[in-house]
Amino acid sequence: MLWAPSYLDAARAPIAATARHFDNLCMDTHIYDTLIIGGGPGGLTAAIYLRRFRRDIILVDKGHSRLQLIPVTHNFPGFPDGIQGKQLLENLRCQLGKYEGSVTEGEITDVRLENDLFVATMGEQQLLARTVLLASGIADAGLPIENWHEAVASGAVRLCPVCDGYDVLDKRIAVVSSATNPVGHALFMRTFSTSVTLFERGADAHLDAGQRAQLEQAGVRYVLSPLKGIGMTDSMKPVMHTEDGEDHHADVVYPMLGETARSDLAAALGAEMADCKELLVDKHQQTSVPGLYAVGDVTRGLNQISVAAGQAAVAATRIHNRLPPRYRT
Ligand SMILES: Cc1cc2nc3c(=O)[nH]c(=O)nc-3n(C[C@H](O)[C@H](O)[C@H](O)COP(=O)(O)OP(=O)(O)OC[C@H]3O[C@@H](n4cnc5c(N)ncnc54)[C@H](O)[C@@H]3O)c2cc1C
Repeated sequence: MLWAPSYLDAARAPIAATARHFDNLCMDTHIYDTLIIGGGPGGLTAAIYLRRFRRDIILVDKGHSRLQLIPVTHNFPGFPDGIQGKQLLENLRCQLGKYEGSVTEGEITDVRLENDLFVATMGEQQLLARTVLLASGIADAGLPIENWHEAVASGAVRLCPVCDGYDVLDKRIAVVSSATNPVGHALFMRTFSTSVTLFERGADAHLDAGQRAQLEQAGVRYVLSPLKGIGMTDSMKPVMHTEDGEDHHADVVYPMLGETARSDLAAALGAEMADCKELLVDKHQQTSVPGLYAVGDVTRGLNQISVAAGQAAVAATRIHNRLPPRYRT
């Protein structure tokens, strides 16, 4: 028998009708408890919890977790010597495998609600699920640096002051101002070094007098001439080229160019969003669309591995408790 989540207040008949509809189209009529979209730390942690709650899930991932960009993370609890992002991803996948869970490679391109079931498109396939957990992360703005993947892998270009500020103690740090937070990141980095220089993204981004005073007071050097480009020396050190023809050498650069949440699938369902398309969720990680949950970077908040994992634990437990019981027989 097919089941409709009680919080959707739906009768069972429409769900059966949806399943029959897909049956007629020769499509998969299997109904998952949860479809997880995204296989980074958020999606994988949720999958581990839900499999351990003996739930019938499918996790679909198109393979661009930000975890893969992390050379070594030193702030994720339990790894005193740090752990490579790729290794952590591998560990999480392996842990999921212990509970007969796996990652389905693919991309979900559409999710709609039909008779209180979620219907998702993956290539030629339609997937049916009672609940959806979106863990699709964010897209970093493109960096104006040649071979930026190598530069990030070497640690010369860094994207997350909260993650690795401590790891660049006393280095020459360059920060490129962000549109939403022009001086905040540079001030944050003063905790870690006496040599912090702020560059502007463009001529239209000049700081006001109050912001310049804040920098001066904190001992942050400010380069007025707008940034033209960022190069790398042979030994992988950043060189900041400014419009006035000067080259400014640094040990690391934080180009805070912004990011966009990959929340379009939720937006199409009508989910409420904050700035940068980040999803708003309640204390159980549910979006404004009943049955649609979101965790990790795609939601508003601190973009960290431990946050994504913690939110996933909350969401997965809530989902399990709201689904009908699955008693052991
Ligand atoms: C250089 C760098 C260093 C960092 N260092 C640290 C650190 O030291 N400590 C720390 O805590 N955090 C760090 N972070 C941040 C950390 O990587 C993120 O907070 C974390 O990966 C977020 O996890 P997530 O599961 O929300 O998203 P992600 O890990 O980004 O995973 C999202 C996944 O969803 C997939 N996806 C998206 N849309 C779809 C779709 N429609 N269909 C199928 N799949 C889809 C993506 O391909 C991706 O695989 C760092 C980030 C970067 C870039």
